[in-house]
Amino acid sequence: MVVYPIVCLVSAFVGGIIGQRKGSSYLVWFVISLIIPILGPIAALLYRHETEVPLRRCPGCGTAVRVYDAMCMNCGTDLDFPAESEIIAPDPSLRVRARL
Ligand SMILES: [Zn+2]
Repeated sequence: MVVYPIVCLVSAFVGGIIGQRKGSSYLVWFVISLIIPILGPIAALLYRHETEVPLRRCPGCGTAVRVYDAMCMNCGTDLDFPAESEIIAPDPSLRVRARL
């Protein structure tokens, strides 16, 4: 029964690296993949990072929010669907405050 912990650890490292490359937390995916070996890394692969969706700037506070957000998670401003000129292409350098 030495194999199982090794599988868990390898899975944790792989899941952590995948999660990090997706722009998410290494530690979060490391722990998930440690608890759920094999499926954890697969979940990390399927996980869609929020910066992959188009963004817009909140008119109230300037925070980048997802285009389909109805409300700014930072300042609570109600958001109408943005004009095309307001939409920002997905940019991993923009940190979105809202979490899925
Ligand atoms: Zn705002």
